[in-house]
Amino acid sequence: MFEKVRVRFAPSPTGYLHVGGARTALYNYLFARQKKGEFILRIEDTDEERSTEESLRGMIEDLKWLGLPWNEGPHPETLKDVGPFGPYRQSQRQHIYKQVAEELISQGKAYYCFMTDEEIEAQKEKQKAEGRPHAHLESPFADLSLVEAQKRKTAGDKATVRFKTKNLKKDYVLKDLIRGEVKFPSDMVGDFVLLRSDGMPVYNFCCVVDDHLMKMSHVLRAEEHLPNTLRQMMIYEGMGWQLPHFGHVSLVLDEDRQKLSKRRGAVACGQFKDEGYLPEAILNFVALLGWSHPEEKEIISLEEMIKTFSVERLNPSGAVFDRVKLKWMNAQHLRQKPNAELWALVNPFLVKSGVLVNQEAKWTSQALDVFKPKMEVLTDAIELFRPLSDEAFQVFPESKEVLSQPTAKGALTAWKSGLEGIGKDIMTEEDFLKIQDSVAAGAQVKGKNLFQPIRVAVIGKPQGTEVKILVPLLKVSSLISRAEKVLKEIG
Ligand code: GLU
Repeated sequence: MFEKVRVRFAPSPTGYLHVGGARTALYNYLFARQKKGEFILRIEDTDEERSTEESLRGMIEDLKWLGLPWNEGPHPETLKDVGPFGPYRQSQRQHIYKQVAEELISQGKAYYCFMTDEEIEAQKEKQKAEGRPHAHLESPFADLSLVEAQKRKTAGDKATVRFKTKNLKKDYVLKDLIRGEVKFPSDMVGDFVLLRSDGMPVYNFCCVVDDHLMKMSHVLRAEEHLPNTLRQMMIYEGMGWQLPHFGHVSLVLDEDRQKLSKRRGAVACGQFKDEGYLPEAILNFVALLGWSHPEEKEIISLEEMIKTFSVERLNPSGAVFDRVKLKWMNAQHLRQKPNAELWALVNPFLVKSGVLVNQEAKWTSQALDVFKPKMEVLTDAIELFRPLSDEAFQVFPESKEVLSQPTAKGALTAWKSGLEGIGKDIMTEEDFLKIQDSVAAGAQVKGKNLFQPIRVAVIGKPQGTEVKILVPLLKVSSLISRAEKVLKEIG
């Protein structure tokens, strides 16, 4: 029996954090929080060529952004180990794997194999020629005495350490928390490598050693690891260690039911962040890929997920990643946010795009009241706010035709003097409509000859957001200087 729920997220830092990885991390986090257990971040970086510090930092940033803090693992800022079961990076645990491998060897459950790559290749060719293309490796060293093996090693011969499967001829049954009973015939695998000839351990071995020594009670991970579980069960059995509870969560699929790939858009958490998605929405969305709320609720906060999460409601079949739904869900979360909080998220996107606007809380809140219903992702604010930025104002080429209307100059002169006569810093929608009426009467214009030049004088182009919505968000002085710029353009 495990004393405590302890679960882990164990990414390999060989790329970015994929939304599927975010989901695995979330499920483990939810489970730990709900059961008052611990959530551990372990770094599976034994692939020296592909693992990078940059990827590790990126993944940690993404987990922080998502808001899934871990109890043990690399410190989120310093990356130094925190917790009693470290090191939490597999690359720093090689001495431990070596020790366990030696123990298996001394018990006759693993052995040094001196076969070279060429010999292995030649054996495969031979098996094929004999009509046994799927036969496993038959190592002549499986029963070599340890004394002999040590002699060869001392003489400098290179050896891998292989797990011996020949005495394990039985079916293995995994009681998967999500998939139910999964049967693996033991002849699915042959003698597999634990340590490579350079001493580097392989994933299946490190995973078992660490899950055991770090006292993991449950392993919730992606379905693609299901076939690995047989090898892992064999190692647990070999060491006489208790098996944790396993649950393999369904694959995340594209709309065409293929494994989710970059072809159809973002799959990296970081990219969703850059595209203006909220972490709450990403978590809500990935949670529902393979899990459902007991009351089938769709918009769920992290706190509510912690309360209602259960492994029993994890679905074994593949879940489709519906990007339209994700955007909709983001809009729901975005619109729930108080304006001040939303502004703090929106403003950096505006600044980055050179859309500099008034920062007074009263103004930003008023502007967000107008634009929030039109926003689905934070980046939608860029084009919505652009017309409000004096720095970004310009007379766009598409205004040419409107400005060449013979009545345009008269209309805009009337518009400008209307603005100058208003005697206010900011006008209301009613003030605006009054000036518009006076332009119509004074310059003898109506319809598009009235509306279009005014629109160009406000936003720099004949198409865009309704002017009467924007005008109360712009200073009268700004409207005047815009009108002057446009009049200059007419000449
Ligand atoms: N490092 C593995 C991966 O990134 C984790 C496997 C596991 O959770 O056991 O897929």
